[in-house]
Amino acid sequence: MTSAQAEPVPIRFVTDPAAFNYDVLFNCMRCGLCLPHCPTFALTGLETHSPRGRLQLMRAVSEGRLAIGEGFADTMTMCLGCLACQSACPAGVQYGQALEEAREQVEAYQKARRSGLAERFINWLVGRVLYGPHGLEPFAPFLRLYQRTGLQRLNLARILPGHMGRWERMMPRLTRRSIHRELGEIVPAATPVRGRVGLLTGCLENTLLANMGQATARVLARNGFEVVIPKKQVCCGALPNHIGRTEQAREQARQNIEVFEAAGVEVVISDAAGCSAQLKEYEHLLADDPAYAERARQFAAKARDVTEFLAGHLPLRDGLQPLRLRVTYDEPCHLVHAQKISAQPRQLIRAIPGVEFVELPEATWCCGSAGTYNLTHVSESAALLERKMNHIRRAAPDVLVTANTGCYIQLAAGMRESGLDIEVLHIVELIDRAYGGNGAG
Ligand code: SF4
Ligand code: SF4
Repeated sequence: MTSAQAEPVPIRFVTDPAAFNYDVLFNCMRCGLCLPHCPTFALTGLETHSPRGRLQLMRAVSEGRLAIGEGFADTMTMCLGCLACQSACPAGVQYGQALEEAREQVEAYQKARRSGLAERFINWLVGRVLYGPHGLEPFAPFLRLYQRTGLQRLNLARILPGHMGRWERMMPRLTRRSIHRELGEIVPAATPVRGRVGLLTGCLENTLLANMGQATARVLARNGFEVVIPKKQVCCGALPNHIGRTEQAREQARQNIEVFEAAGVEVVISDAAGCSAQLKEYEHLLADDPAYAERARQFAAKARDVTEFLAGHLPLRDGLQPLRLRVTYDEPCHLVHAQKISAQPRQLIRAIPGVEFVELPEATWCCGSAGTYNLTHVSESAALLERKMNHIRRAAPDVLVTANTGCYIQLAAGMRESGLDIEVLHIVELIDRAYGGNGAG
């Protein structure tokens, strides 16, 4: 090398270019038709915050032209993973698969830079507390006490560092008992039996949103299904998958396959769109595992979101009482974009007598929840929530219905912060109310 030649730029981190499926990246023809559908592009107007820009960065990494550094990590973690771009793409680019591969690389990059303490904390949180439905239970009595003694109203959380105060304010009001404690392992069918189904209770839902899971079990039982809720089930794996911990997601998928196979159920149901989407991904997640590939394929074929399952069994069984309510519906990204389930939730809402259904403008636009996004990207998430709240104000419903745990928490926080007197419910809670559900909690 002569002195006139530039020094090579030191590579800060060497990734594995083969970690990406190049065909997926190559399929992008850079037409830009996805751009108007991308919420992060709408927020910043930057090409690197658009699907096309992100795919080009991934391709550069895959071709060995770009090393993974902070810039690449930021643009990938800034992505919501909402998959609106995948729905809009005329070339059928599987953006979700590419993002998953990128996040795995980003996690390897970030892991190498984290302190030992930070790594141990994340391992404890994702690998223990949020590993399964029972991880949060030891904390539940303290949280209930905090909420019910009025301590929460003192707004003590404002003294917490960073964004923790906002996280605390987002916490839903806990019911008296978790799903597992309230219902046990079997909920018998309440009308003539037509099947035996399994219910996934998730990492957060069992403790933080038990009202949702309990309503799901009651509505299924009311419609002739025996509901099995295995105690040894674990989180669907969406959370570790979302933050690039793919091997942990595989481990959780294997455990759920074992548990629900042993339960002898015909289908496995989740009432959280992010979880039902993840259950259907087990086939791809374990495709290279010879011991589990076929079992994962069979499991994925049995996985259902509760909205598609119930809509497939319309009309709902007798007993629905009229609800004189104006209701609108916000579509979870992991239902409408990841699973292409859009008509079924509306069919279910319309099946309730007395309900006046109104469409919500931009119902398919992400609310800013997006897994852990509202915890890691607070200002962007708040901006997306504000956009959503403006549409909700204009629709002026009595009840806003959704079908995902994260959206439920985000939208309920939006109502509290905006001072709007609009109730947020999961679709099954609305149906349960029409059946005169016992409102356990
Ligand atoms: S992802 Fe699809 S819509 Fe977006 S630029 Fe590429 S080909 Fe076009
Ligand atoms: S997943 Fe959502 S946020 Fe990410 S690039 Fe696609 S549309 Fe944009």
